[in-house]
Amino acid sequence: MNEAVFLREKFREYYEQNKVSGPSGISQREFGVGEFGKKITSRHLSFSSADEFNSFLRNNAPLFISHSLGYYAFPSARPMNAKELLKADLIYEFDADDLKTECKKSHDSWFCGNCGSTGKGNVSNCSKCGAGVEVDEWVCPDCLKAVKAQVFKLMEFLEEDFGVSEGISLNYSGSKGFHIHISDENFSKLSPQARVDLVDYLTAYQIDPVSLGFFLSKQKKFVCPPPGVAAGWQKRILNGVEALFERGSFEEIAVAGNVTTASAKQLLNERSTILSKLAEGVLFQLPGKKTEGFWNSVIEYVVKLQRLDIDRQTSVDISKIIRVPDTLHGSTGLVAKTIPFQEFKEFEALNSAVVFGGEEIVVQVAKTPKFFLHGEWWGPFDGEKAGLPEFVAVYLIAKSKAHIVSGV
Ligand SMILES: [Zn+2]
Ligand SMILES: [Zn+2]
Repeated sequence: MNEAVFLREKFREYYEQNKVSGPSGISQREFGVGEFGKKITSRHLSFSSADEFNSFLRNNAPLFISHSLGYYAFPSARPMNAKELLKADLIYEFDADDLKTECKKSHDSWFCGNCGSTGKGNVSNCSKCGAGVEVDEWVCPDCLKAVKAQVFKLMEFLEEDFGVSEGISLNYSGSKGFHIHISDENFSKLSPQARVDLVDYLTAYQIDPVSLGFFLSKQKKFVCPPPGVAAGWQKRILNGVEALFERGSFEEIAVAGNVTTASAKQLLNERSTILSKLAEGVLFQLPGKKTEGFWNSVIEYVVKLQRLDIDRQTSVDISKIIRVPDTLHGSTGLVAKTIPFQEFKEFEALNSAVVFGGEEIVVQVAKTPKFFLHGEWWGPFDGEKAGLPEFVAVYLIAKSKAHIVSGV
């Protein structure tokens, strides 16, 4: 049986039993669908209601379905500007692809089409000939944990820096990350430039400590904004410095300030003075001329710890479309599940997003690393035939890592 047909049949069964609520303002959204191996093959679709949307899902069982960030007067019109944009959600995507996690060394691998070399890990160039390589990417609970940390950081920014706690929803992407949709009116009317400014703030892009009030004064004191009046990144930097000294690891202070561990130990002895000086708007003076270099390095370090890793360009593209929450992802067969915030901490995507059953399906599996799904590790496989539960077979077939042999 053809793999694409098999997946579509499975997806149809799912949509026959599960109703998807669809995005808010459904009749004003543009939709796009994709096929096996292609996330978007056609766009400019629109639905007048959630019922119409669901009957489309049942009848067509698309392997991918995405909706626009934008709300339009004429969502199916084209070209884009004929749609007449009314407003647009702010959406942030966090993906394991953008993070350099250690676990990738064990589950990702690369192949060089130029010289035929292969290797473990996620690299962009061949270690032998330097050509660009093809990477076989997988996701594991550790990758998703790292992505989660980014989501928590964003939530903190939204609440503490922007005072937003309503109109935010969160869902698993169905593959390697999470999506945050912000439909709060204060954000949905933002201009493209304001969206860029927002991303620049979140990523601390071109942040300038001097203009924030952190610099060596003429009196050779390294000044900082007094905590009582500090706001935004000023406050974040001060909190970061405070937290660094409160954690009290001289190894970390040595790295943060680019000083020897001996100097870091001495500084740690002065911890209470450093913290009380900071409260007065002055950072502690180091011996000789080290003050400026040390604090600039520490500031850079604490900024890096707090800023987000999000792509500047993709997060401000208002015309793009994004996976509809609670629909299936055609490269995994997992559901892009909506996650209530109070459940996010405990949410294990590779368990909770599994929707297919355990009936055995015999598949011919390509080379794969060991991978985690529904509470268990599977594989590694290396070209063998295997009888696997349906949810594992669907996952591998969707990833183009298996062919059906029998049992369907
Ligand atoms: Zn090569
Ligand atoms: Zn991983």
